[in-house]
Amino acid sequence: QNRFQFQKTFRLFSTLQSPTEQDFQELVKRAPSSLVVNHWEELEKYNKDWTGNYSGKSRIVCRPNSTKEVSSILEYCNERKIGVVPQAGNTGVVGGSIPIGDEVILSIEKLNQIHSFDGINGIVQCDAGVVLQTLQEKVAAWDALVPIDLGAKGTCMIGGNIATNAGGQYYYRFGSIHSNIIGLEVVLADGTILDLMSTNRKDNTGYDLKHLFVGSEGTLGVVTKVALNCPRLPSSRNVAFLACDSFQSVCETLAKAKEHLGEVLAAFEFMDKAVLDQVATEKRIPLLNDNGENYDFYVLVETQGSNEDHDMQKLELFLESTMESSQAVDGILAQDMKQVLDIWEIRESCNPIIKSKGYNYKYDISLPLDCYYDIANVMRDRLSKFPTVEVVNWGHVIDGNLHLNIIDKGEFKVREEVKELIEPFVFEYTISKKGSISAEHGLGQCKNEYLGKYAKDAATVAVMKNLKQSFDPNGILNPSKFLPSL
Ligand code: FAD
Repeated sequence: QNRFQFQKTFRLFSTLQSPTEQDFQELVKRAPSSLVVNHWEELEKYNKDWTGNYSGKSRIVCRPNSTKEVSSILEYCNERKIGVVPQAGNTGVVGGSIPIGDEVILSIEKLNQIHSFDGINGIVQCDAGVVLQTLQEKVAAWDALVPIDLGAKGTCMIGGNIATNAGGQYYYRFGSIHSNIIGLEVVLADGTILDLMSTNRKDNTGYDLKHLFVGSEGTLGVVTKVALNCPRLPSSRNVAFLACDSFQSVCETLAKAKEHLGEVLAAFEFMDKAVLDQVATEKRIPLLNDNGENYDFYVLVETQGSNEDHDMQKLELFLESTMESSQAVDGILAQDMKQVLDIWEIRESCNPIIKSKGYNYKYDISLPLDCYYDIANVMRDRLSKFPTVEVVNWGHVIDGNLHLNIIDKGEFKVREEVKELIEPFVFEYTISKKGSISAEHGLGQCKNEYLGKYAKDAATVAVMKNLKQSFDPNGILNPSKFLPSL
């Protein structure tokens, strides 16, 4: 099936070539750490994604050790008109880092140096292949923090986070990665190195080109370095885990958190009973009802600040107020950093645990809060005739971002009769409520065809296509991803 899709791609990008043995030799000369093998198994890790939904047939993974090597690879592939798929930690959810056929994979994993940290300005400069968690740990040792965090932090890389404009749990506090990027180095499709690595926080000269690459999913250039804003590490950090008995109460608790916690509110995440019932098969849930069962809804509230007494006073007022009004029916407050991390572990294990239960139909949507959770019940009704199918939900509710997941328990591949009840309904429902069909995971090869249909108007898609044409006239960068084919 992949081969067929690739041939289709080649008709669309009719000028693209399949790489030959001679191309492999030339690319290895330009990036000696590249992996070229005739044995499929050795390349499998790069050709498959963690969801198991996407796989490619690339026979070469270029692993450049420097920006110059990235430039040399792209220059060659552009001249030869060979498709190139940039890949970082390969944790994306929409198949963006996986080739459709036998394009060259360009892994940035060897570009992994942290170059400098300016403590007064709070700016770290590093290569794009640094793993997010490694960067977080290093920056924490300098009393600062990386303003994004997500469950995939142990594997995803900062370049991948930039290319997907990753959101994550602290979006409400720090804004998107867009708002925290101060400088970038990018290699264009023809090998040109674009040095936008300024550490000036303010610069209004010319188009702010670096932002074009943020969220462009490797279709306009390959990000090789970044200068990133790193705020001071908070000296006070508290986490509360609360139970609510309706989604309305979740929303009221959110309103109370904004009212009482104000500037120290850092994260507000929600999980429903259905997902916690799955998580409970592998982890102890620290807050259960009198029958020893999970409550209907949970929220995780985090505060970050610089004065423990001040923050604790605010938190206590918030907890008192929300409990008194019965918006939260039960709750616990982490007593130390271990408990903080244990509570976060519950939230972050939703994704990996449900993956082990069966085939996952994953949706990452934005919806207005007044109808945010309705879709879960609508989907439960639509799918009620399938006893193995469960609708489980969690998300960054403070940003209106819902991770709607449908598990087909015990099944490990798509069932068309299930899928046709989900899609395109879920997208049509979302746009009918003026939401977004992809809040943070992007488009990749999963939703690119929906861009013009469910996301942007014709004029906007046309401008995007013009941009692509101007940055990558041969269409070598991540072909058949992100933009619709027609
Ligand atoms: P990859 O998956 O390797 O690549 C992603 C895309 O970026 C691809 O299109 C690729 O071609 C392109 N790309 C990669 N590197 C470059 C580069 N250097 N230059 C140009 N293009 C490049 N996402 C969120 O936004 N928020 C979350 O809270 C979140 N939670 C997650 C939790 C789990 C457990 C998992 C598995 C995933 C989660 N994700 C989340 C999705 C994913 O982790 C993010 O999209 C992440 O930013 C991808 O980074 P990566 O390094 O794995 O990139």
